[in-house]
Amino acid sequence: MGLVAIRRAARGWRRLYRETRLFAQALRSPHHPVFAHAVVTRRCNLACSYCSEFDAISKPVPTQEMLARIDRLAALGTTAVTLTGGETLLHPDLETTIARIRRHGMLAVTITNGYLLSIERIRSLNRSGLDRMQISIDNVQPDSVSMKSLRVLDQKLRWLSQYAEFQVHIHSVVGAGTAKPADALAIARRATRLGIGYSAGIVHDPSGRMQPLDQESRDVIAQIERESKPLFSFARHNPWRRNLIQGKPNDWHCPAGGRHLYVCEDGLVHYCMAQRGYPAIPLAQYTQDDIDRESRKPKSCAPWCTVFCVHRIALVDQLRTNPRQALATLFPSGEPGSAASSPPLPIRALTALFAPDRPTAGGRLLRKAALHLLSID
Ligand code: SF4
Ligand code: SF4
Repeated sequence: MGLVAIRRAARGWRRLYRETRLFAQALRSPHHPVFAHAVVTRRCNLACSYCSEFDAISKPVPTQEMLARIDRLAALGTTAVTLTGGETLLHPDLETTIARIRRHGMLAVTITNGYLLSIERIRSLNRSGLDRMQISIDNVQPDSVSMKSLRVLDQKLRWLSQYAEFQVHIHSVVGAGTAKPADALAIARRATRLGIGYSAGIVHDPSGRMQPLDQESRDVIAQIERESKPLFSFARHNPWRRNLIQGKPNDWHCPAGGRHLYVCEDGLVHYCMAQRGYPAIPLAQYTQDDIDRESRKPKSCAPWCTVFCVHRIALVDQLRTNPRQALATLFPSGEPGSAASSPPLPIRALTALFAPDRPTAGGRLLRKAALHLLSID
């Protein structure tokens, strides 16, 4: 085993501990943001035709301002920060920002189109303490919709598989506007061969509303899910994503604005990338009252929402408030083709510890020990 592989494995175990801690914290309390997305620059070196999140001219957010925002997110109790854009690798102090996230004990994630990756940049990101990189790849050959193509990025993926000590995840969008839905399957298979994680999202309009999926796109998503069988992933077990793929709306409560924050380049808090303008309060002035109020507020865009990271938080909140019903929703028993008829052991164990149906004295003792082990007390 090479040195990078040993370091990657060691970091993987430490990350698993920190992710378990994050999950336990989210189960334990509804009063802090679980995920925050923070824009480091609006500028992008590409111009995908479906994207409404970039321009060609914006300057990077000044580093001191970026660090102050990270400090504020930490003070609000945020457990994971995803740096986003535009293109994040265009920020000259991305690594300094990542290191600051890690210094606060939060999970550090960055989204990139991968074009600016080099071996040296990957090593620099290793040193910064980055936990996870998400690369978007939309097609096999570049076309008029997107230049984020396997053909262009394959060398970067090989470097990542060779040198990255952080986790790498490829994300594709499937649905209206993507010329060849079957490309997503080719990308998923390439990711598997390189030992890289993969997920497929659904194209949405600028308001976050899902665009209808044609039959070919649905078949592609189903095939990708058949070929990737992790023990558990919220993407795979997300009942609301399943409904959307079948063209059905969802009845759920979106906790954005409290449990999920999107901080734009101007430092304002928004619900998510698709619902910018609400509540649009400066992060520096965002308070616990804002978190609790906005978490509770109903969102009219929820039925067709495709922002799956917010689904994930809502599912964890449901596990806390009604564990039995949430587990039944996540793991429907006997459903034809369902991935699991009963929840995986780690999910059952964490739910029993932090969100028990009927608390017992023994359970309380175990919970106390687990909180101590996870350094949450
Ligand atoms: S690479 Fe990402 S940020 Fe840039 S235009 Fe494409 S989707 Fe938008
Ligand atoms: S439901 Fe929530 S996460 Fe989804 S688009 Fe609306 S505000 Fe954003």
